[in-house]
Amino acid sequence: MKPIQLISPVDGSVYATRTPLTLEAAQAAAARARAAQKGWAATPLAERIALVKAGVANLNANAPKIVEELAWQMGRPTRYGGEFGGVNARTDYMSEIAATTLAPQTIEDSDKFRRYLAREAVGVVFIVAPWNYPYLTTINTLIPALIAGNTVVLKHASQTMLVGERLAEAFHAAGIPADVFQNVVLDHATTEQLIAGRAFNFVNFTGSVGGGQAIERAAAGTFTGLGLELGGKDPGYVRADADLDAAVDTLMDGAMFNAGQCCCGIERIYVHESLYDAFVEKAVAWVKTLKLGNPFDTTSTLGPMANKRFAAVVRSQIADAIKAGAKPLIDPALFPADDGGAYLAPQILVNVDHSMRVMMEESFGPVVGIMKVTDDAEAIALMNDSPYGLTASIWTTDYDTAAEIGAQIETGTIFMNRADYLDPALCWTGCKDTGRGGSLSYLGFLSVTRPKSYHLKKVQK
Ligand code: NAP
Repeated sequence: MKPIQLISPVDGSVYATRTPLTLEAAQAAAARARAAQKGWAATPLAERIALVKAGVANLNANAPKIVEELAWQMGRPTRYGGEFGGVNARTDYMSEIAATTLAPQTIEDSDKFRRYLAREAVGVVFIVAPWNYPYLTTINTLIPALIAGNTVVLKHASQTMLVGERLAEAFHAAGIPADVFQNVVLDHATTEQLIAGRAFNFVNFTGSVGGGQAIERAAAGTFTGLGLELGGKDPGYVRADADLDAAVDTLMDGAMFNAGQCCCGIERIYVHESLYDAFVEKAVAWVKTLKLGNPFDTTSTLGPMANKRFAAVVRSQIADAIKAGAKPLIDPALFPADDGGAYLAPQILVNVDHSMRVMMEESFGPVVGIMKVTDDAEAIALMNDSPYGLTASIWTTDYDTAAEIGAQIETGTIFMNRADYLDPALCWTGCKDTGRGGSLSYLGFLSVTRPKSYHLKKVQK
């Protein structure tokens, strides 16, 4: 098998090399996961939860190494730490609701009948994870899947291959058996062949639309459950009654944090005409405070993008938009670390419209387009004019109107006066090309379990 190289965006060096499993070895790994599942499901729920939590505690204990490796693998500045806040909060919440969510629901318990609905682990869960929030995106499925009694096989992104290794080490050291949670290195062909060969009962894929389509094709006819958490082009809408400073702070942070590589990052902003000039002025000032540089430099607030090919996509979207009449408001010379490769200066574009790729295609980088709107109806139409539907962020002091606007937006999550945040108690989901299914919340347990109906007629003695 051709080795997979992890090229660091920090300096272009080869940071790690791993050889993917052959199809036979991958099938054997999946078979081990299948064989281990019944035993794991028979382990008491409280014990499974304790083991999972101990695994996450081990991960926390390894924070310094993890933070350093994250910077090398995907370029996030070390000043932001690992992803532990979210990892811990999601683990705690899913652990807390597990007993209630997984408990059988009694429909009738009388002299004549006992009827109830139970939930059973689906079997073997396969996680295909992306590099942008490599721990969080994995944890979203890993935690409920293991707690519910499934075994898990994880294939991490090539850009963040070491994340899978750190997770497996942490969970195995906690006492979770090796076959209950396996990290594997796979190429795309083997990944798809495993799915097509019915190796798994549920696949959670987080990544690009093209990747999601390939996974759906591979699963066709196998009846394997699929969770597809794909791309986004999330809008922000600033109404005339918004708190301007708060809107600028949160929306610009949502656009630029992690070099714009957030699935729910803000990629387009619509501002009411009465606030437009002030918003743009403040947004430009906000971006000028960023410092692009080496992620190990503690003054860097913006690191390189995870790969120079991702930056090339953003550069071409910006260039095309400018050619079509967009106006860039940030002089790249203010960001001398921009090397034409992975290190990319942030950009704000105005005079943009929806004929431009930068307003329609996912950028997944530190660029945002801002447009003026005259009323809610225009903002709603523009927000819905997108192939994606992950989140939308509305800025207003009017709670009822925000909810009414929210009801008209084709999206998975509506935020009012916040953005770019996952609440463990709410379902993480999307519509249109953003995919289907849902993780987190009590619904996150539903995709990794199946319902089982018990219809028991009692014999009268
Ligand atoms: P990607 O290229 O689709 O890769 C995601 C994962 O899928 C990687 O592990 C990748 O493996 C694997 N993969 C891709 N195509 C495959 C195929 N044909 N067969 C088998 N495996 C395949 O996406 P990415 O660039 O890593 O991640 C960024 C994307 O993820 C963005 O579009 C972002 O919006 C989306 N995302 C969505 C959410 C959400 O919750 N909706 C969250 C985070 C990210 P290799 O790395 O080995 O190629």
